[in-house]
Amino acid sequence: MVLAELGGRISRALQQMSNATVIDEDVLKECLNEISRALFSADVQFKMVQNMQANIKKIVNLEELAAGHNKRRIIQEAVFNELCNMLDPGKPAFVPKKGKPNVIMFVGLQGSGKTTTCTKYAYYYQKKGWKPALVCADTFRAGAFDQLKQNATKAKIPFYGSYTETDPVKIAQEGVDTFKKESCDLIIVDTSGRHKQEAALFEEMRQVAEVTKPDLVIFVMDSSIGQAAFDQAQAFKQSAAVGAVIVTKMDGHAKGGGALSAVAATKSPIIFLGTGEHMDEFEVFEVKPFVSRLLG
Ligand code: GDP
Repeated sequence: MVLAELGGRISRALQQMSNATVIDEDVLKECLNEISRALFSADVQFKMVQNMQANIKKIVNLEELAAGHNKRRIIQEAVFNELCNMLDPGKPAFVPKKGKPNVIMFVGLQGSGKTTTCTKYAYYYQKKGWKPALVCADTFRAGAFDQLKQNATKAKIPFYGSYTETDPVKIAQEGVDTFKKESCDLIIVDTSGRHKQEAALFEEMRQVAEVTKPDLVIFVMDSSIGQAAFDQAQAFKQSAAVGAVIVTKMDGHAKGGGALSAVAATKSPIIFLGTGEHMDEFEVFEVKPFVSRLLG
């Protein structure tokens, strides 16, 4: 089930609960069960759904709520807050500081939209008056540098990479050093997303981080992968200090489970959403407006 349907189904469950003449344990239970079924269909992890149910039951204690309390509103608010909590790790992401050479490293599996997102991120800040630059430290995938170069050229953003150098660590270091000298204030390092072996990919990521000392590592994930995102995000988190998440392809078959799992696995907030293939199809992510929109 895709994200838009998830929101509709949760809203309908809340509406049905609201329509009941008396809100008793059975009505509340049926409402929460329907919300849980909706979350399972959106591929949200069992444990997260269980926690959500338990938290809501703790807040909405029908026996303790005196008559006259607006039970409908209290239940609706509790569901809203729980959905927000699932998307909010409770600590904000690093915010780049203007006038300093902020180094931002992007990690994620090949195909997740990492290279596209690097340019979108650079373009977003460029429009706000920053001086971004892009470094292609993916020497594994043929064509990675060309893709970054093409995107960067289109957006008039300086870029660094090599057709001949095969050591991504060397390129990353040289690129970051070059742009620091040029007083760029947002130096974005795109890394490889695939290798012959997973271990090699993570070791390379670790080495790139060691030489570039990123202020922020952003994990990019495709929203259509559902709860498989949990293991993926955790594996990346173990090798790099992931501090933020960007969820891509929200315009496609986005599942709620992916975004929620990525936040849970990395304990990092989502900062942007990718909503299309174009450079400006990129939105700042804010939990409350997102959940409000989801529930319609
Ligand atoms: P990478 O291998 O992770 O660097 O992924 P790419 O940046 O090459 O993206 C893979 C494909 O996903 C490309 O065809 C992109 O145009 C597409 N893509 C990336 N972000 C989005 C998005 O937010 N929405 C849509 N519809 N496509 C996207």
